[in-house]
Amino acid sequence: MIDISAIRLDFPILSEKISGKPLIYLDNAATSQKPLPVIAAIDRYLRTQNSNIHRAAHHLANISTELYETSRSKIAKHLGVKTHEINFTRGTTESINLLKEAYGMKMLEKGDAVLISEMEHHANIVPWLDLKEKIGIELRYIPMNLDCTLDLSQIDTLLDQKVKLVSIQMISNAIGTIHPVEFIIQKAKSLGARVHLDIAQVVSHQAIDLSEMNIDFASFSGHKVFAPFGIGVFWGREDLLNQMKPYHFGGEMIKEVYMDKATYNDLPYKFEAGTPNVMGGIALAEAFDYIDKIGMSAIEAYESSLYEFAYEELSKIEALQFHSPKGKSIASLSFSIGDIHPFDIGQILDAQGIAIRTGHHCAQPIMRKLGIEGTCRASICFYNTEEEILALVRGLKQGIKMLS
Ligand SMILES: *Cc1c(COP(=O)(O)O)cnc(C)c1O
Repeated sequence: MIDISAIRLDFPILSEKISGKPLIYLDNAATSQKPLPVIAAIDRYLRTQNSNIHRAAHHLANISTELYETSRSKIAKHLGVKTHEINFTRGTTESINLLKEAYGMKMLEKGDAVLISEMEHHANIVPWLDLKEKIGIELRYIPMNLDCTLDLSQIDTLLDQKVKLVSIQMISNAIGTIHPVEFIIQKAKSLGARVHLDIAQVVSHQAIDLSEMNIDFASFSGHKVFAPFGIGVFWGREDLLNQMKPYHFGGEMIKEVYMDKATYNDLPYKFEAGTPNVMGGIALAEAFDYIDKIGMSAIEAYESSLYEFAYEELSKIEALQFHSPKGKSIASLSFSIGDIHPFDIGQILDAQGIAIRTGHHCAQPIMRKLGIEGTCRASICFYNTEEEILALVRGLKQGIKMLS
């Protein structure tokens, strides 16, 4: 069981007032808020531990290196993988660009196909469009049904021998749909394709053991899982990472540098050129410690009952049309209200201290398919409450009255 009032005190921002009203933060799919232990770890690091890592004789450099590398191993443990398979990046976007550069550019060829879906975040579309332009891969899409689930009816045609890489999200950021990834992974693997999972919307909501998933790569952002901006993870299987080439070049990623050549470092430093975000890595490990202390199963249970409650209460608004498929989505509730522009709704809610996100949520192909410009998206976290959901419903009803 979750002690919600104690948890809320761990997140100082939740006590802030917006236009004189208590903040109701329902934009967790865009970024999560930060708990005190994470804030304290950053404060402690900057006050007493700050130093560049590696290759130094002095005390602070050793402390900093030790903290950074211990953090990497804690994160690896949380995800069920090897420490040196964890590559720190700036976030999901950089991780997928790493995959495109270090794997796509090196190991794929003209005529190979990459399979993604129509429901991907732009971060998992645009790098592949660039790869298509650069080396002539074929980019295929699993289409979306109008109920915002994936249409797998043509999967056997889409997923054939030409497909060398399948790169898909596990949970949609725009809609909250949980995709049947196990089914897709199994099909891909039976044909020998590599699989990359975008788990940006998973890590803060569900326990995930990457070693059990029969995949090759995974990406997520720290800021969506209670750590600050600018830190993320790209995970890859050791044997594949060893075959891939570096994609950024400079300090740390080398073994020896001569005027006419250089040799590259071992994992994970090979993919971490330059001074890394040491503080971010430490904060991310602290964030995982924090959620592990609450317990991922308690988090899942609380959030799923809150989600059902929200779905139920929002359904009572007659003009509201859900895009999040019932029983097949979590965390994000995406909806439209008649012809009212989502942005207008967002502004009326904002005046009441309620933060939701409106727009295309970095997934324009979804909006185009639905024939709309954007949606309203309320996304929950374990620090949200039923009272907050009821305030959202009241706010929406008031908005409808004002705008129609
Ligand atoms: C947020 C998100 C991204 C992009 O993450 P950044 O932190 O902006 O790099 C990619 N995919 C999904 C599913 C996301 O939710």
